[in-house]
Amino acid sequence: MADEFDLIRGLQQRVSPHRSVAVGIGDDTAVLRRPQGGSQQLVTVDLVAEGTHFTLPEATPAQIAHKALAVNLSDIAAMAGSATAAFVAVALNRSLGSPFAEELFAGLHAAAARFGVTIAGGDTNIWTGPLVVSITLLGESTGSGPVLRSGAQPGDWLFVTGALGGSLAGRHLQITPRLEEAARLHELVNLHAMIDLSDGLSRDVKHITTEQGLGFALQANRIPIHGDVPGDLPQGARINRALHDGEDFELLFAVSPEDGRRLLSSPPFDTALAHVGIVLADPARGVLVDEFGQESPLVADGYEHRF
Ligand SMILES: [Mg+2]
Repeated sequence: MADEFDLIRGLQQRVSPHRSVAVGIGDDTAVLRRPQGGSQQLVTVDLVAEGTHFTLPEATPAQIAHKALAVNLSDIAAMAGSATAAFVAVALNRSLGSPFAEELFAGLHAAAARFGVTIAGGDTNIWTGPLVVSITLLGESTGSGPVLRSGAQPGDWLFVTGALGGSLAGRHLQITPRLEEAARLHELVNLHAMIDLSDGLSRDVKHITTEQGLGFALQANRIPIHGDVPGDLPQGARINRALHDGEDFELLFAVSPEDGRRLLSSPPFDTALAHVGIVLADPARGVLVDEFGQESPLVADGYEHRF
């Protein structure tokens, strides 16, 4: 039977070193080097819990491990940063047994290696509750600094990467964090504001507009609908799925119309880019515009954690 220490030792032997980690797993704390060359430290924490973010036994340990890291990587991508070190806290139900735990840790290692992240510490508990994996991820800002949720300007164009909706059919366990796309965009254009889409476009668009004292207009027929949304639904229902389903982990960002035109005329990467709307000056105006130009208020209906 593997105990907590076997699991940690197993992880320790497999970590891929990152220059920012001077001392990783095995001491009382990790020792990290300061970001170099004017970069700033980014820190984020996200947990995934059985019953909310995945169900057992449908999700495999490797899928859970990937999701736990990828949701955090998506947040680093949303700052146009690069990820460095991860700290992993796991609460395992006793009934899952050590093969499950070993697969989970192998999956964490594989996901970290794939994205060039060092697992630099963590904690494992065995208990009687559901499986919870919490990851604290460190990163560094790139380019001209971190891209915040604030900073959009009236008249800016709103873009999303990829396609939206239907993630719960399985894609939510195979998230591709848009780190490379974010870094490329940060080099090419002036990103005024950016966020990753975790709760659904209808909810997340408000974080970079309404909550910043701005409004928005989204064009219904420009919203990219993922192939995971059933094609036999009426078009309005398909658009609603793309707006509200959530767990897309795509990027939503605001740029000037000039930069927006540049992105459309020479696409910077293979991942799709869609110009979905504009930023408005009036914070009371958050609307969806149909193909006839009719506006209706966009009511957020994405996932919300509630008691
Ligand atoms: Mg986020």
